[in-house]
Parts: sequence; C-alpha cells; structure tokens
Amino acid sequence: MTSTSLTLTGVDAVIADYNGVVGLQPTNAMWTRLADIAEWPSGQLDSFQDAFWAPRNEYDAGELSDLAYWAKVLGHHPSPRWLRTLRAADTAMWIRTDNRVLDILHRARQPGLPMVLLSNAPHFLSDVLDATDWRRELMTDALYSARLGLCKPDPAAYKHALAATGIDDPERVLFIDDREDNCQAAAELGLRTLHYTGQPAQLEAQLLRPRPAVAFRAPAYPRGTSR
Ligand SMILES: [Mg+2]
Repeated sequence: MTSTSLTLTGVDAVIADYNGVVGLQPTNAMWTRLADIAEWPSGQLDSFQDAFWAPRNEYDAGELSDLAYWAKVLGHHPSPRWLRTLRAADTAMWIRTDNRVLDILHRARQPGLPMVLLSNAPHFLSDVLDATDWRRELMTDALYSARLGLCKPDPAAYKHALAATGIDDPERVLFIDDREDNCQAAAELGLRTLHYTGQPAQLEAQLLRPRPAVAFRAPAYPRGTSR
C-alpha cells in the first residue's frame, strides 16, 4: 500500500465509529417507545436505560444472544414474539444516519483511501448495517464487536481494524469516534484520533482538501474601450 499522502493532512486510511459519528443518537421518543414495548413502568425511563445498558457490553461483544440480553434487561424471558418486537424496536433506534456526515465521507472517498467501520454492535444490528447502501458504497470493510468477540476500547479491536485498512503505519490512519475513551485507546496504539463531537466541520477539516480559491482575473477588455 502506498504511503503517499492522499489528503492534505496526510491521512492514508480512515477507521470510523458508527453510532454518534455516522449514526444518529436515538430520540427520547424512541427510548420511550422501547420502554413501553418492554412494559417498563411509565415515567421510569432512567431506570429502563440503566437496565438496557448494564448488559449491553456483553451483548455487543456477542457473548449474549438476543434472548439472553433481553432476559437480563427485563428480569425474565420474553416470549419469542415479544423478543422479536423488542429487537426490532431496539435496532430501529440505531439505524438513522447523519446525512451531513455521509456527504463528507462520500466527498472524501477515493480509490486508495480505505475506510473501515469499527462499531460496537450486536449481531442483528451488524447484519442490518451491513445491508445498507452507505455501508456498501462507502466502507471498504466493516468490523463489528459481536463478530470480533470484543468491544472497543479493547486494543485488539483497533488492531483488527488497522489490519483491515491495509496500512502498516498507524500514524497515517485517522480513527474517528464520539467516545473519548475509545479515542484514547486508539491513540495509545499510535493512531491519529478525532474525538467527534457532532460538528461536521471537524470531519471536513480532517478529510477534505479545501476548495481551491478561484483566482480573480480582470476582464480582458481591449485597451481603450469602456463600458
Ligand atoms: Mg459511538
């Protein structure tokens, strides 16, 4: 793989997080809907979210099946139909994308600039994301925690992603994530990092060459003429 700088900032590959970068965060209405489907007591969204997140790392790492995960959240095993409804509503919370980010990635995309998605996601969501147009069009590869069997910020996750870029030198690979701890772990392996805080201009500054300034040229009127 060439080490020629393909962007102004000398980035030869990109490793991007999904949720919080490409993917939008769930709305409050989505959380409330999922809590309702889970038959959580109304008005107790905070405790639902606590229950949702507590076993999530194990779920993302592929250590829990859909049933085992939701049994931990609910405190009992849901029926097969209820489980399908829960999983569908859960997945729907994470599949909306930020068109501003996708636009920048499309503009940055070029042959010889590998873009690899590195996401903490359970199996079902991974399959859904993998089937999207943006994933197929933009990403040269996509690595999901459930398939890797480990989550960011485990250093091994970044090593897999770096290998997927085909670039040997981590200093020429830009890692983008909305979580500071994930960026910190990547930086410790020598990757360049961008802690994305939801401002697309951050991505533009790192990934896009500035548009060339249009030089002013005086109109070429013949001398002696006037308008
Ligand atoms: Mg994220």
